[in-house]
Amino acid sequence: MEDGFPAPKTFNQGYSLTYDDVILLPHYIDFPTDAVSVSTRLSRNIPLSIPCVASPMDTVSEAHMAASMAALGGIAIVHYNCTSSQQASIIRSAKSLRVPITPSVSFASPVDGLPAYHGRYVFITESGGLPSKLLGYLSSSDYENLKDKPVKIFDYKRDCKSVEYVNWDCDLGKIETLLDEKDSDFLVLERDGEAVNVVVKEDVERLKGYPKLGAGTVGADGEWMVGAAIGTRESDKERLEHLVKAGANVAVLDSSQGNSIYQIEMIKFIKKTYPQLDVIGGNVVTMAQAQNLIQAGVDGLRVGMGSGSICTTQEVCAVGRGQATAVYKVSSIAALHGVPVIADGGISNSGHIVKALVLGASTVMMGSFLAGSTEAPGAYEYKRS
Ligand code: NAD
Repeated sequence: MEDGFPAPKTFNQGYSLTYDDVILLPHYIDFPTDAVSVSTRLSRNIPLSIPCVASPMDTVSEAHMAASMAALGGIAIVHYNCTSSQQASIIRSAKSLRVPITPSVSFASPVDGLPAYHGRYVFITESGGLPSKLLGYLSSSDYENLKDKPVKIFDYKRDCKSVEYVNWDCDLGKIETLLDEKDSDFLVLERDGEAVNVVVKEDVERLKGYPKLGAGTVGADGEWMVGAAIGTRESDKERLEHLVKAGANVAVLDSSQGNSIYQIEMIKFIKKTYPQLDVIGGNVVTMAQAQNLIQAGVDGLRVGMGSGSICTTQEVCAVGRGQATAVYKVSSIAALHGVPVIADGGISNSGHIVKALVLGASTVMMGSFLAGSTEAPGAYEYKRS
């Protein structure tokens, strides 16, 4: 007896369906929730234990997001809205953050004044950020007790004699024990003579409330796996060289319309120059687009056009496709070639994640879903009304 619409019948009628146009029928439960595995693949050679990918947006994916996503068994793709050396430095920094704590303190260089957001401490480092050599620090009460507020906080810093350092790959349990033993409010994590992170007691408490950390997404180098977005211009070949040296584990070709001569040539170039590096092509929404990129040698496909929260492609360019149909159609052809699919955009609730996975995607990519979190770049601004 037919009951409901099977997927092929639903998606072969010619309509363009969004996630909210479809609903799944429930089935039968004969297993406990802890028997459910959501492990998957981002691309041919990158296994993940959760199907979640942080989008290459400058409001979402930098070092702390990349370390946190990898620690949870997902991955982040670092954006390229910056110079290639900045992007490489974000990747190096992410790979140095074994404990995925986003510090609740701020950083300044020796020539800076007090940063607008300064938390309980301001740490002064050579570069004004991390990783970098630590030169001193100042607590907010040190600053508030000063009669004449200095132009350069460096002149009023405390030195590093009393600072407790630990190795960068120290685990959370050990950090918590050391904070108690040393009766210290913070610890500095260090690698090769540079500070890579600062952990304050209250950060440890916050992280303990997060979902249980599993093995995480670790590469052959023993560090977090991190993805990098690039374009298809000639200059992106040079950018990629920096990123590979910094340890990028996968390149994502970032375009609203991936089925182009530029992308096909770039895929072939990457596969020839860096055969060990997975390359993800896209974005695509049709089977013909996907077929072209699969033939060029992609290890993964990114699906979505006009479905992202800030995307205006469907209004401006009159092209695109409902995300449910796009994911189903592209996944159907990609599965024949063993190519995993990332459903990119349009995720505004957990039900959308379930729909994307049921329709054939191996992972979902999230932007606005993660923006504004502690791990996303940028500082909070509080406004008095
Ligand atoms: P793009 O770099 O693919 O395209 C920009 C223009 O440059 C296109 O006209 C393209 O044909 C051209 N181009 C690319 N490589 C070239 C080369 N080697 N030589 C000559 N011309 C070349 O980028 P885009 O499509 O504008 O996307 C920019 C960003 O916006 C990306 O982050 C993309 O993901 C995002 N975006 C996404 C969507 C979506 O629906 N998913 C829509 C719009 C934008």
